[in-house]
Amino acid sequence: MKRRIDLLQWLQPTPNLCIVCGHPNLHASASNALHAFAPLRQLKLHEVVCKSCLNEIAWIDKILCKRCGRRDRCPDCSRREESALWMNRSAVFYSEAMKQWLHRYKFQGDERLSSLFGKMLMPAVERVTMQLIYKQGLEEHWRKSNKTAVAWLKGVSGRYWDAVTSVPLSEERYRERGFNQAQQLAACISAQASIPYYELLFRTQQGVRHSQQSRQARLSETGERFSGSHQGWNAMLRSIGRSKPLHILLVDDVYTTGSTVHACAEALMRVGSGDLTVASITWARS
Ligand SMILES: [Zn+2]
Ligand SMILES: [Zn+2]
Repeated sequence: MKRRIDLLQWLQPTPNLCIVCGHPNLHASASNALHAFAPLRQLKLHEVVCKSCLNEIAWIDKILCKRCGRRDRCPDCSRREESALWMNRSAVFYSEAMKQWLHRYKFQGDERLSSLFGKMLMPAVERVTMQLIYKQGLEEHWRKSNKTAVAWLKGVSGRYWDAVTSVPLSEERYRERGFNQAQQLAACISAQASIPYYELLFRTQQGVRHSQQSRQARLSETGERFSGSHQGWNAMLRSIGRSKPLHILLVDDVYTTGSTVHACAEALMRVGSGDLTVASITWARS
């Protein structure tokens, strides 16, 4: 008898649970009951996140600073002069709820959230790709296409993103955490937008924990914390079959002052020494 009950339980589809709060997700349709068997990245946001958690997402839908993608006025960007980083776009404002989500992923190790975060990054990828279309003077052609920026630019030879890469983690942090969240997010973008992923950077110093540094110290740091990987760079060039112009997407979880992504962009400029556009995609903008 017990065996029969076990079998019945196995045959019954498990209810869709929100991957953020763990409550049943009534928002998801019954046809998605089998989603336990589908890779998370193939699902839509409302199929994995319940309505009340969806409402907590602090999407950035209006941008006031065109350089860093912030929704408010931005003293850091006005102070910063020339930079190797062309622009940043972020998915969400770093609200209390978003801090808690990131905390669960990064410090409590709930890696299922990487696919959710990766999915949430796609509107930001779309926005920065639209800017790349404008930069290259292709907007009229694109508008006629009726396609999304990513879908259209992918078909234009030599004008799309050549690589997606991520901010490297220090060895110490990697040992502590067991994964690099920026690398996982970059892998999600790579899969969704069909951009090859390359390890193009490494850390040169194992510095003090970022949050323990003063704001001024973070702003005045140079690119020497990071270095470009010649091995990764050459692998990318061999695969692309040309050296310039190159367009690279750099991924990190949070943009605070921007010192990390700016330092990484400088390191990429040093290793690439050429016609290079580096844009960063970060999950949250504080
Ligand atoms: Zn929920
Ligand atoms: Zn800014």
